[in-house]
Amino acid sequence: MDQAVARAPVALEPGLAWRHDFAGLGPAFHTELRPTPLPDAHLVSLNARLASELGLGAGFLAGQDGVEAFTGNLPLAGARPLAGVYSGHQFGVWAGQLGDGRAILLGGIATPAGLQELQLKGAGRTPYSRMGDGRAVLRSSIREYLGSEAMQGLGIPTTRALMVTGSPQPVRREEVETAAVVTRVAPSFVRFGHFEHFSARGQHEELRRLADYVVDTFYPDCRGSERLAGNPYAALLEQVSERTAAMVARWQAVGFCHGVMNTDNMSILGLTIDYGPFQFLDAFVPNHVCNHSDESGRYAFNRQPNVAYWNLFCLGQALLPLIGDQEVALAALESYKAVFPRELEARMREKLGLEGEQAGDRELVEGILQLLAAGRVDYPVFWRRLSRFVAGGEREPVRDLFPDRDAFDRWAAQYEARLPGDREAAGARMLRTNPKYVLRNHLCELAIRQAKLGDFSQVEVLLALAQSPFDEHPQHEDLAGFPPDWAAHIEISCSS
Ligand code: AMP
Ligand code: MG
Repeated sequence: MDQAVARAPVALEPGLAWRHDFAGLGPAFHTELRPTPLPDAHLVSLNARLASELGLGAGFLAGQDGVEAFTGNLPLAGARPLAGVYSGHQFGVWAGQLGDGRAILLGGIATPAGLQELQLKGAGRTPYSRMGDGRAVLRSSIREYLGSEAMQGLGIPTTRALMVTGSPQPVRREEVETAAVVTRVAPSFVRFGHFEHFSARGQHEELRRLADYVVDTFYPDCRGSERLAGNPYAALLEQVSERTAAMVARWQAVGFCHGVMNTDNMSILGLTIDYGPFQFLDAFVPNHVCNHSDESGRYAFNRQPNVAYWNLFCLGQALLPLIGDQEVALAALESYKAVFPRELEARMREKLGLEGEQAGDRELVEGILQLLAAGRVDYPVFWRRLSRFVAGGEREPVRDLFPDRDAFDRWAAQYEARLPGDREAAGARMLRTNPKYVLRNHLCELAIRQAKLGDFSQVEVLLALAQSPFDEHPQHEDLAGFPPDWAAHIEISCSS
């Protein structure tokens, strides 16, 4: 292993331009360090589609040098590895300093998809590891890899994952597992917690530097706007609120439960980030809690919209020294309350195949959600069957999902009356809105069981389905149906 570390840095892509804007914020923001090597690294999966979007050759990435580099065993020419510091509220309580305890940022690369940062998650201890071992296990790394790609496939803003590598190195969780590293990709990994960190410490100069970096790089139109007293930091808060509202509306529409919506797991770019105990709903249970460690149900599915607002409020408080006026900060936050319901209604109308906005639409949405909840109906199966029905298929497969058939018939009569004249076109749109393939917990679980035995083929299957969830894949019909009974007993905790 030492030999590998001593090797000269390898090039990720000839002529690739690296940029280190986050590192350029200065030493108050990070610690430069090297990943800790792992023995006998091997490829678990390479996301060839993302590699191609980034203009990176799959040949290098999947080859042994690529595997060593993205496990942290071999330095990449041009990279500048570091761990960032942030703080945050965890489960509603101020947790103080946290930081990249096991993620190491390599830097930014210029790609056809714009500047993207690369980060190795699970690459060893950092000054922010606290009691942690700096590692991630194969199980959770596969979940993050597939989960983020599933969100991408559904059109939901998210960090991405380029590859997963594994090592036989034992890692102790509830039981002994093995180590893995996920290469995450995003324009930035800055979280609400970064702002909270410098604000709570009264480091207002650093707070301003961070905010200026985020505004100038990602929200340039915050400057020069007349709105919110012409305050660029209030404009930032407003735009982050809007993006977060749009993101959470998409979560709710598709039935995505994040599981750990702590402020350190909230992206300043409104991306879904930090996939841990996440879950796509099977049965529609509005107060479902997907995180076994969340005893109070703080992050239950139907609480996510309010929690997002709570988190934005923390961000607003952190930005207050820059905004300077509490009324202006509160005004910026108001946008969440306007945008979230508007976005959610729009998403639900899309799911129903409705055109335009009409009186009674909200009742139609609420009506079906109540029926789904009362019958604990499988959420993805319902939407897909409804889409098929509208596209010209049979009604019975939808109706049969509801224990109270009469109630469904009453709802369906109103719904059909509201459908646009061209039902076939509406149905076709619905089939591109309501996925056939959803990355359900039990599918991850089965792929992970095989992967632990060294067979990664099911990870590849799920990756392909995650990337085209609206298409028919006749050879994988069995992965589109109801979950087995045992799926209800899967316990996913924070342990990862
Ligand atoms: P999470 O809830 O997974 O987002 O993690 C919260 C904090 O704990 C973050 O600062 C992580 O970097 C850190 N952390 C989680 N697991 C580990 C680990 N195994 N080793 C070091 N730090 C960790
Ligand atoms: Mg986190």
